[in-house]
Amino acid sequence: MSGNVLVLNSGSSSLKYAVMDPISGETVGRGIVERIGEAEVRDHGEALQVASERLDHVVGSLVAVGHRVVHGGPDIYQPTLIDDDLIARLEKLSPLAPLHNPPALLGIEVARRTLPDLPHIAVFDTAFFHNLPAAAATYAIDRDVAEQWHVRRYGFHGTSHQYVSEQAALFLGKPLEELRQVVLHLGNGASASAIVGGRPVDTSMGLTPLEGLVMGTRSGDIDPGVLVYLWRTAGMSVEDIEDMLNHSAGVRGLGGENDFRLLHKRIDAGDEDARLAYDVYIHRLRKYIGAYLALLGGADVITFTAGVGENDAAVRRDALRGLQRLGIELDEERNASPERTARRISTDESPTAVLVVPTNEELAIARACADLVKG
Ligand code: ADP
Repeated sequence: MSGNVLVLNSGSSSLKYAVMDPISGETVGRGIVERIGEAEVRDHGEALQVASERLDHVVGSLVAVGHRVVHGGPDIYQPTLIDDDLIARLEKLSPLAPLHNPPALLGIEVARRTLPDLPHIAVFDTAFFHNLPAAAATYAIDRDVAEQWHVRRYGFHGTSHQYVSEQAALFLGKPLEELRQVVLHLGNGASASAIVGGRPVDTSMGLTPLEGLVMGTRSGDIDPGVLVYLWRTAGMSVEDIEDMLNHSAGVRGLGGENDFRLLHKRIDAGDEDARLAYDVYIHRLRKYIGAYLALLGGADVITFTAGVGENDAAVRRDALRGLQRLGIELDEERNASPERTARRISTDESPTAVLVVPTNEELAIARACADLVKG
């Protein structure tokens, strides 16, 4: 197949789009329409209109549209051709991902109307993790409740964890099947995964993308007792608690900024809250790295990716500081280099290789779509 794939990532207030050549990997066009719901861009339909105008010159080259969908629930994980039946099934899943799936469905709806002659394909963030070992996927709660309500660890950012772990193997020139890997996807949302032979054995996000690492605005792990306590004693509603955990927690909740560039500026200016936010973030990250090294019995490679992971040398240094006894030795100079391509940041002697690998979820989605259309 030749031709390009339009990849859409539709959030509640933004629409990210990219036109990718799945064969060469070239990005033909890319952008974001923000502030959906405000005066200039009233809804997702208008957002797609703006994107289409910007992409006018490449629309003729499109052979498929790929939609990133966060939650596929218990049964849907393969890249799937979108039809009315799939949409109805996805609508039923919205309670599992109330913040993420409804805007994706809106994006799908307007894109199908705007580009009715192209195949539209849903690619799920949960796909890579659909087969997690039961010991990792199961929450230790009442089994009947868990089964009835589909409560389990699903995992998210799967497209990124899979793509980056494959790229790490390519970079090292080793077969994926032979590697024990830890992948740290540190963007605004953040998640970790432990991967053996190309298959994930654990990941930090759970039923929803709230669990695990401290994130830009999300809390990550928290004692579930805190939620009950706030609801019962502090008079917070379920909506208040959900909003707090998703939007005013994480490094922004603690330190006032979710952009690490600004967080570092505050720390340098002596801001104690920003310092604490950073320390909490690093503390949690180190705990997960340690946990995954224990699960794997040691890793061959640890890879950093996404906005913070690819760009923030201080985070990488502090996450892995003093772990020589565990076989991890960073090379300070390599770590500080601002290069944008896949690279090694450990010393040549370090038993565990440490890499920075830029993620490319759009390309991975475009390739999944191309494979499906090809049959
Ligand atoms: P998402 O896809 O989850 O929105 P990204 O992977 O694009 O997130 O990461 C965005 C985050 O990356 C920003 O909020 C910021 O904290 C961080 N980031 C981006 N560039 C840099 C940089 N040069 N230095 C440190 N952090 C950066």
